[in-house]
Order: sequence, then C-alpha cells, then structure tokens
Amino acid sequence: MSAVPGSLSEGPTLFPASVCSVTAIEPVAIAAPRAVAISARPVSTLQTISLVGPDVVGKGTDAIYTVRLLTAPGEKTVTVAYTTRNIGARAGVNYTQTSGTLTFTADETVKTIRVPALASSPEQLKPATFAVDLSQAKVGKTLVPINGKILNKSIVTRIIPPAPAPAPGSDFQIVVKFPDSSLTTDQRQVFADAAFRWTEIIVGKLAPVAGQLADIEILASAPPIDGDGGILGQAGPTDFRTDASRLPFKGMMEFDSADVDTMFNAGTLKNVILHEMGHVLGFGTLWQSKGLITGAGGTTPLYTGTNALREYRTLSSRPTATGVPLETTGGPGTRDVHWSESTFRIELMTGFAEAPGVRMPISRMTIGQFEDLGYKVSYAKADPYTIGATSIVAPSRLPSTPASVGGGALLVSSQTLPTLNAALASAQAAVQQMFAAAIAKPKPRSPA
Ligand SMILES: [Zn+2]
Repeated sequence: MSAVPGSLSEGPTLFPASVCSVTAIEPVAIAAPRAVAISARPVSTLQTISLVGPDVVGKGTDAIYTVRLLTAPGEKTVTVAYTTRNIGARAGVNYTQTSGTLTFTADETVKTIRVPALASSPEQLKPATFAVDLSQAKVGKTLVPINGKILNKSIVTRIIPPAPAPAPGSDFQIVVKFPDSSLTTDQRQVFADAAFRWTEIIVGKLAPVAGQLADIEILASAPPIDGDGGILGQAGPTDFRTDASRLPFKGMMEFDSADVDTMFNAGTLKNVILHEMGHVLGFGTLWQSKGLITGAGGTTPLYTGTNALREYRTLSSRPTATGVPLETTGGPGTRDVHWSESTFRIELMTGFAEAPGVRMPISRMTIGQFEDLGYKVSYAKADPYTIGATSIVAPSRLPSTPASVGGGALLVSSQTLPTLNAALASAQAAVQQMFAAAIAKPKPRSPA
C-alpha cells in the first residue's frame, strides 16, 4: 500500500487503488511563503508532483507511468527528469532503458512515460524488477528547483509473463498457473480451454490487484492422492478483493492425478474443470456471503439473485417463481451450492456430472448468476439449453437422461463428486469467515 508520510497533509486521495508498489516517498518540507522578504520565492515554485505506475508489466508490453502536477500549474513551465534503473532486471535484457525530461507548459498537468518490457525477457531466479525514478523537478524560465515535493519519486515494476488473451470482445483475464509438472501438456491445454470459455461469458475487467495482471489467477496441479476414484481433489476461490465487489482474485484447483488421467482419457475433463472453475469464480461459494440464497439447509433452498431468477422464470415458464431451485441432496458442498439436479439435469452447474459424451451446457441462468455476483457478462455466449434437456448423443450408447438425482454421475461417480464437494464445503466456510472479517474491518484503500 502506498503511504503518505504523516508530516505531509494531502487533500484528495492521490493514488489509484491499484498503485501499491511505492518504494520511496521522500518527505520534503514545504517552505512557507514568506510575507516580507526581498528574497521571497514566488509561490508558483511550490509544486506537488506525483508519479504512479504499474507494479507489474507483462513481457512484450509497455509499462505506462503517469506524472501529474497536483498543484495548479500557473504560468510557469515545469520540467521533471526521469530515468529507469536496474534492480533485478537489466536494461537491454529485460526492458528498454528509458530516460528523458518531461516538460509541462502552462496548461499541462499530465504526462506519461512508457517503458517497454522486452518480449524476450528471460526467466530468471531473482524478480525482474526495475525502477522509474523522477528527479530534478524545476519550475519557471530560470528553472529553479521546485520548492515543493515529489510524491512517489520512484515506482518499482516487475516484469512477468503476459496474461493470456481473453476471448474476443472480453476484457476478463484468467491465468491458470501450473506450479509443478504434475499435469501433462495436453491436460494443461484443457485448463486453458476452460479458462478461455469463461472469458467468453465473463467479459468485464475487475479492479486490478497488486502483483498480478489477470483478473484471477488459478493454481492448478494434480498430485497423486489415492488412485482412481475416492478423493478427487478440491477447488475453490482463495483470495478476495477488498473492494465492494468482494470477488475472488486467486483460486486453486487440485485433482488426484489418477482421476485427471481417467477423465482426460474419457474426454470429460473439460466439463469437470469448467464446473470447478465456476466454483472458483464464485458459483455457490459466494452465495451465502452475498445474500443470494434463502432456505439453505431446508427442504426448498432457493437462489434469489435477480438475473438468474429472471432467466429461470423464462426457462421454466413460471413468471411468478420466487427463486431458482437448488440441490437438496448430497450433503454439505453439494446441496445449497448447485442448481437442482432433478430440475436442471445436464446443466453444467448442477451437483452431478454427466456421462462421457453428454454435453453439459452453460445456461443463461448460470450466466445470470455471475451477473448477480457482480461480474459483467455476455448472455450471447450461453449454450443452448432447455429445462429437462437430455443428451444429444446416441441413446443406444448412453443414458438419455440421468435416471435419478445423482444417477447421471457416471464419470465423476457419486462417490467421488461428493468428496470433492466436501472439500468445497470447507473452502466455503473459510470464504465466509474471510468475508465476515473483511466486512467487519473495511480497509481504507483496496489493493485488490
Ligand atoms: Zn460443484
């Protein structure tokens, strides 16, 4: 977080919430203008200058810094020198050495500095950081040193891999990070494909988060746990923005390697990853915290968010429905956090996976749920879906519809999915605790 030394009093908030990498703020005393003195400095040499910029930049893109005169510019020209400085990064290897002088004429108050981060910047052990430093701020024709202060004389920026491009028309970026080699290249591609699909549906950029480029980063791995079946793994959001959205900016997905192999070979991994990624993005995991559910734990839990409810009323031809039916079976982690399997069957976000080859569509109702959570969404990217829709694959090979609640869970069996869901339940409890803490002690500025 940026901090202004206590000796300086500032009026409005000076820094965008996203600027958190301030490393050097030099307190400079403001000289009070003297009332009577032949040598009194003109008031116009009092000037406050701020520098803001990104704490991270993706390889192959430009880091853009903004220099502002915060005091009324007056009639004098102001100049400020700037230069980049190596820290863990090296000019010419990781980024382009950049320096110069910004000249603000009488009416100008904002200038920008661009520093290219090289696409060829190599992976290295120490963080590839560089600084942009301001110096030699001067004012007037004779260019006397500014008798004021420079806030944020230095910004430190780290060069990181660029976030993958979202779907066309979308600004929502998901990074899936693989901390080890437990997932094969082909399996990683399935995670990437699933992330891309969600960026077709969630299209709006969220408040930036210190230290990352994407709107959400998901750690994905597949350690060996207990072989085929049994424990499948766990998935959920782990870190949340502290702004009003409270939306997650980090999450994790961990699957038993044997189960991942089974699902990959059966061709069903993508739907399971899509489903779990939906939970990481907040489906089911944020409902309690955001007050989007009634009757949890009872016989008729209902989801009451406006947009999903509107879509459900249309889907079901029940214009007076008061909520979307939620799952009542399967125990904690399944009930109350999924659409009702008996009503919605093959929809992606019911609590039960379908057999291999059965499509699991993302309905407009699910998309409405994400709008209810606070995301900007695109309904045009919904899959075709009608309530009670059945399989489109050859009925001779696969059941046309789950035989009963849970009966369709042929791939991720009724033993394995609840195990995953139990892990999700504990993640949810943690989520709610974090929400409670965040609401009880709101932070003055949100880094995230
Ligand atoms: Zn689920």
